[in-house]
Amino acid sequence: MYPNKTVALSGVSLHIAPKEFVTIVGSSGAGKSTLIRLLIKEELPTSGKIIVGSIDYDTIDKANIPHLRRRIGVVFQDFKLLPNLTVYENVAFALEVSGVKTSEIKRAVPKILQLVGLSEKGNVYPSEISGGEKQRVAIARALVRNPKILIADEPTGNLDPKNSWDIIELLLKINKFGTTVLLTTHNKEIVNALKKRVITINRGRVVKDEKVGRYVL
Ligand code: ADP
Repeated sequence: MYPNKTVALSGVSLHIAPKEFVTIVGSSGAGKSTLIRLLIKEELPTSGKIIVGSIDYDTIDKANIPHLRRRIGVVFQDFKLLPNLTVYENVAFALEVSGVKTSEIKRAVPKILQLVGLSEKGNVYPSEISGGEKQRVAIARALVRNPKILIADEPTGNLDPKNSWDIIELLLKINKFGTTVLLTTHNKEIVNALKKRVITINRGRVVKDEKVGRYVL
């Protein structure tokens, strides 16, 4: 419940296994973003329990939140890149803020840029690349800290169909390497083609949870 007494989620009980690929669908205002904010501890539930890996959110203190955030990488529809940093620097920054040594940063960043297909773009600025490439940078930045879980909140919302599919394929590849992926999307074609687990949220409740789900709203 938000301070204005809006009940954004109610009676939600979900278990997501390690290495799963899960899509969360629901119309605008259904509660998807609230669910994500709870998972990254940006919001606190009024009641109920959240456990990620072995971390019980009731028992972690403030000092442990950065540790939790390292376990969960998040990418958003609007990329949230730093415009004054190059592609390489945007990714490196995620490591710098967590105190990683320069030698380790120099090793990790090129590797991750290669994984997302941006080896050639390290020296350019966000304004010089396409939307699809920007989302790849955001994914690289989220992944460079080796999170166990990658949350992609409407990652294709600002992309054309071709770039959208490229991003989805990248998420599938990342999932294959062993990262749990949580995807929220409004894109019906993508959800139906994925043939993965689909959790449907409506007015704050899980109304459907299917192993091979379809987008039905
Ligand atoms: P979705 O991501 O599915 O569009 P949200 O989780 O953003 O849905 O919203 C769920 C409900 O909670 C909506 O009724 C929305 O208006 C409300 N809500 C979201 N964020 C806040 C907030 N910070 N304060 C008050 N109400 C909010």
